[in-house]
Amino acid sequence: MSSLIQRSGKRPYLIAGPCSAETEEQVMETVMQLQQFCSIDLLRAGIWKPRTRPDSFEGVGEIGLEWLVNAGKQIGVPTTTEVANARHAELALKAGVDTLWIGARTTVNPFAVQEIADVLEGTNIPVLVKNPVNPDLELWIGAFERLEKAGITDLTAIHRGFSVYKHPKYRNVPSWELPLALRDRLPHIPLICDPSHISGKRSLLLEVSQKAMDLNFDGLMIESHRNPDEAWSDAAQQLTPANLSILINELVLRSREVSDNALEGLEELREKIGVLDDRLFEILTARMRLSEDVGAFKQEHNITILQEEHWRKMIAGRLEKAAEYGLAERFVSLVMNALHQESIRHQTRIMNPNVHRNEHD
Ligand code: PEP
Ligand code: MN
Repeated sequence: MSSLIQRSGKRPYLIAGPCSAETEEQVMETVMQLQQFCSIDLLRAGIWKPRTRPDSFEGVGEIGLEWLVNAGKQIGVPTTTEVANARHAELALKAGVDTLWIGARTTVNPFAVQEIADVLEGTNIPVLVKNPVNPDLELWIGAFERLEKAGITDLTAIHRGFSVYKHPKYRNVPSWELPLALRDRLPHIPLICDPSHISGKRSLLLEVSQKAMDLNFDGLMIESHRNPDEAWSDAAQQLTPANLSILINELVLRSREVSDNALEGLEELREKIGVLDDRLFEILTARMRLSEDVGAFKQEHNITILQEEHWRKMIAGRLEKAAEYGLAERFVSLVMNALHQESIRHQTRIMNPNVHRNEHD
C-alpha cells in the first residue's frame, strides 16, 4: 500500500499554505514564496471555511479550487483542501485536488463524514482527518472506519487540538494523550500535528511543533500566508513563508532509533529509576496502611471519613513543602489528590466493611 505520507523519521512531512484561498494572486504569491523558502510536501488552502460565527469570511468557494490546483502544478507539489459535505467533495474531485481533508467541525458529525465517504467510494483519493473539536477518540476513529469502509486506504490523522472555554494558553488545547491513544489504536495511520490551530498565535508555534516532533509525529501542517496580518481568516496564527522556513530550521529533530551505544547508558538510568519506583511503591503501601489505621481510629470515635478542613490545610502545607523541593504545583496537586482519593477508598473499606463486601477491586 503506497501512501501519501512517507515516514522518514529524518524530516517532518510538511503541509503548508494559507488558511484560506483569498484571491488568485494571494494563492500564487504565497506558493511561490513557499517554493523559495521551504521545501513543502503538500499545499493546503481552505476554499470553504467553517466559521464559528456568521458574517466572517466563509471562503471563496468553487472558484478557489482552480487557483489551488494551478498553484500546486506551478511548483510541482500536490494539493489539499477541506471538504465538509458531499458537494464540496464532488467539486474538489472534479477540480483535480489531489488530497482532501476533513475538518474538526465535520469529524464530529457522522452524517457528514458518511456522505463524504459515499462520494469518495471508488476513488481511493488520500484523505486527512482532523480530530473532532471535542476530545472524543471514538468519534475520530469512527471517521476513519467510515472512510475505510468506502475503500479509502490512504488515510492520515491530523491533530489540531480540542475546544475548551477560554484557555489561558492555547486556542485549542493539545491534550497530547488523545493523538497518542489514536496511534496506539491505529498504528498504521500516519499522524500529523497542526500547531497553527492548537496555538492560535505565532509565538507558540515553535513550542508546539517541537513537542510534536519529540512525540514522534510524522509531520506538520502549518498555515502560511504572504502577509499574515492581512489574512482574511486566522491572521494571528499564520506565518510568512520565510518565517515558516526559520521555524522548520529551528526544530531539533532527534532519532527515533536508540543505537546500541546509547542503549547501554539509557538502560543504566532506567534501572536507577526502577529502583526509585520500587521505593515509591513501598512508601505508598506504608501510607495506605496508615490510612487504614486512621480509618479504624475514625470508626472507633464515630467521625466521618472526609474531614474537609483538615484536607484543605494539609494540601496547602504539602504544596508549600513541595515548592521548596522545586516540584511543580500542578503535578504535586494531582499526586496529592490521587493519594487522597485512594486513602478514602482504604478508609471506607475499613469503616464500612459490609458495604464493600462484594467489591473486588
Ligand atoms: C483550517 O485548517 O483552516 C481549519 C478550519 O481547521 P480546523 O478544522 O482544524 O478548525
Ligand atoms: Mn485556519
